[in-house]
Amino acid sequence: MAQRLIVVGGDAAGMAAASQARRRRDRSDLEIVAFERGHFTSYSACGIPYWISGVVPERDQLIARDPATFRADFDIDVRLRHEVTAIDLARREVVARDLDGGGEVREPFDELVYATGAVPKRPDWADPEVRGVFGVQTLDDASALRAWLDAEPAPRRAVVVGGGYIGVEMAEALIQRGLSVTLVEQADQPMATVDPDMAALVADAMRGIGIDIRTGVEVTGLDERAGRVSAVVTADGPLPADVVVLGLGVRPDTALAEAAGLPIGLSGGIRVDRRMRVPGVPGVWAAGDCVETLHRVSGLPVHVPLGTHANKQGRVAGINLGGGYATFPGVIGTAVTKVCELEVGRTGLRERDAAASGFEFVSVRAESTNRAGYYPGARTMTVKLIAERSSGRLLGAQIVGWSEAAKRIDTLAVALWNEMTVDEMTALDLGYAPPYAPVWDPVLIAARKAVDALHQG
Ligand SMILES: Cc1cc2nc3c(=O)[nH]c(=O)nc-3n(C[C@H](O)[C@H](O)[C@H](O)COP(=O)(O)OP(=O)(O)OC[C@H]3O[C@@H](n4cnc5c(N)ncnc54)[C@H](O)[C@@H]3O)c2cc1C
Repeated sequence: MAQRLIVVGGDAAGMAAASQARRRRDRSDLEIVAFERGHFTSYSACGIPYWISGVVPERDQLIARDPATFRADFDIDVRLRHEVTAIDLARREVVARDLDGGGEVREPFDELVYATGAVPKRPDWADPEVRGVFGVQTLDDASALRAWLDAEPAPRRAVVVGGGYIGVEMAEALIQRGLSVTLVEQADQPMATVDPDMAALVADAMRGIGIDIRTGVEVTGLDERAGRVSAVVTADGPLPADVVVLGLGVRPDTALAEAAGLPIGLSGGIRVDRRMRVPGVPGVWAAGDCVETLHRVSGLPVHVPLGTHANKQGRVAGINLGGGYATFPGVIGTAVTKVCELEVGRTGLRERDAAASGFEFVSVRAESTNRAGYYPGARTMTVKLIAERSSGRLLGAQIVGWSEAAKRIDTLAVALWNEMTVDEMTALDLGYAPPYAPVWDPVLIAARKAVDALHQG
């Protein structure tokens, strides 16, 4: 008799796991049911800012595979608009509510993949009765925002609350749609994922495209008129708004897991081993934004909610529960984003992470250009490197530059992953031609500067 796999959450991690399991085990061996409470499966939340801006014209371009495709090509029974409300490990069954039909179903499982993602932080002042305030966590959220932006009277003034990469990308999207945009951030800098000196370059670029950035400002409430948001109230006074977008970060969605007794780690994510098994709970796997993982540089458990990890972790879980062998070896915190033409990349530890982890380190910043200085389109690029003082090992890197900057972080990520020293990096055989780099690539210039700093120290 076939075993049953139940998947909770039908996006990146959940459906990657389901598809990989199916590739290894056919229906006579494994029946697969995936519950998704929203209207979509396997969509790119990462693409939401670009659909909101209009760069990606159609919402459905963000959907990689819909339920019909999963049914036809993978024999996976996807149940949209079904919210799993309980996991009973003793009886090995889940309870799911049909959000449209109203009924409740109980489904038994032999294997379970928990892939519920993350919950956006929603502040107390975000009164759900006030219309015009949106998160952008799911495609359903984005659809609601898009409908509000497209409706008459068209909103003209937007306030984005939170200056993380999602807030920054959304601010850019709204500027591109022609709204006036204010971004409010409680901390002293936007883009807390990079050091303050690098974040200052990002803030300058944002101001350059017309985004009004207010840092060190706390939002305390909303003003409304006839049930529609009219202003965001801050300690510095009200900011008029016809639409508010929340980008305040996320936490792992572990409510069901906790209720079922699955182990929660120090970072707040579900604990998993390298094969994405939940330790001590046979047949239960977890992957994606709901889990914690190992930071390979600090050695600490961390919660890094990124699609790149969710896809890989889901794949690993699916291969293993399909009878194969795969591991997820942890992360080093590589991420890229952009604000208009300005590109931002980061990997490894920031200065404050390195200090908190007990490293003694040097950090250097090198300015050069993306192409040979004489070649048309040459623009500034700033590379920052953080290296361990005693060994010279690279601990972290950040890049901000006008073009061809973001993906250069991958070179640094590979060096960091392989524990290279900055001295070794100075000899890296990187490609050179005037349209692509100066004769000394910005990465090599920064490595040389780091070596100098180590020798001086
Ligand atoms: C605007 C935005 C931009 C982003 N940009 C990037 C980027 O550029 N690069 C990058 O690497 N990452 C990016 N991310 C992050 C990336 O989208 C997530 O890391 C990724 O989607 C996580 O996949 P997941 O499957 O773990 O969770 P999710 O994609 O959140 O999927 C979880 C699914 O589970 C469903 N669910 C939850 N609970 C239940 C339940 N009880 N019953 C049934 N269904 C349930 C949810 O409806 C959801 O569809 C971005 C995210 C956002 C929001």
